[in-house]
Amino acid sequence: MKITEEQITKLRDLLAQPGRNIVIVAHTNPDGDAVGSSLAWAAILRNMGHSVTCVVPNKYPYFLDWMPGIEEVVIFKTDTERRAERAIEAADTIFCLDFNAVSRLEILSETIERNTSAVRVLIDHHLAPAPGFDLMFSYPEESSTCFVVYSIIEALCGTDAITRRMAEALYVGMMTDTGNFAFSYLTPELFRAVAVLVERGISIPAIHNSVYNAYTEGRARLFGYAINRKMELIEDGTVAYMSLLESEMRRFQFQQGDSEGFVNYALTIKKVKMSAMFLAHRKFIRVSLRSRGDVDVNLFARRYFNGGGHHNAAGGKSYDTMQQTIDRYVRAVREFAEEGLLG
Ligand code: 5GP
Ligand code: MN
Repeated sequence: MKITEEQITKLRDLLAQPGRNIVIVAHTNPDGDAVGSSLAWAAILRNMGHSVTCVVPNKYPYFLDWMPGIEEVVIFKTDTERRAERAIEAADTIFCLDFNAVSRLEILSETIERNTSAVRVLIDHHLAPAPGFDLMFSYPEESSTCFVVYSIIEALCGTDAITRRMAEALYVGMMTDTGNFAFSYLTPELFRAVAVLVERGISIPAIHNSVYNAYTEGRARLFGYAINRKMELIEDGTVAYMSLLESEMRRFQFQQGDSEGFVNYALTIKKVKMSAMFLAHRKFIRVSLRSRGDVDVNLFARRYFNGGGHHNAAGGKSYDTMQQTIDRYVRAVREFAEEGLLG
């Protein structure tokens, strides 16, 4: 990752005077990378003498509850004391982590937009970052924002500044965004970073266990139901989709985060090149897309579901009914195939 001297100088100048009022925001439906990068970056900034508040639009999944320091993250949606709003109003610096456009903050966007005076810094790895940031660390060729944060720390103050707690937080994002080091963008530099985190004393098996083996019984049974009863294959078995209605989710005591990984599972089938998951919410259907190799789901999400993301992992939304959403997907897949975009 090429972090230029100019970027680091700007960041160093920005942080030179202690006592800045900083807010760190991460994306809606915060995942391990969003939370991990926020916690580690917050800790570094606090050690430099700044005052930091981490804010997320809504709750992170329960299997991240164990992360040290996560209780300090303010959840905007349920923040009855208006801590997030007050911190954002008072902020002179806003770091935007693990998303590429303020609109991705959804219910939190407006509050962030209202503060027009704060310096805005983007630290992210999604494609197509929006304009409007004063300083950008945008690396779509990197596997996680946690790895970007690690590299910024390395360039800014050296990795000796990374404590065990920070290392744990950073590892969570590196591990989850790479599907436990199985997806693309696995560079030698990433593994060198992991080696440094291990030197800081993290336990990889313990972190793995805390994140991946911490689900409820309901989640395990919902998974079985979703694969057995709701997974459909089209295009001669090369494209998959799955849907869950609110009534089905209720039956298995669904909690946010329970469907994590379902969309990836269809890709364990050798022939499947692309997979979708349609998850009903009160006001819309959340669309998750995954693909193998050349199939570009970022393009697919932009074109058909008003979304985006990465080449092999993207998402979007649908305001139609479940059946209309599925019909649209099936038609879109056909069109994609006819254009030769399904390989
Ligand atoms: P997930 O399926 O895990 O929710 O999201 C996969 C990827 O797609 C993530 O990198 C996420 O940021 C991106 N993504 C998900 N939903 C949307 C959306 O509505 N708009 C955009 N631009 N990206 C999305
Ligand atoms: Mn990420």
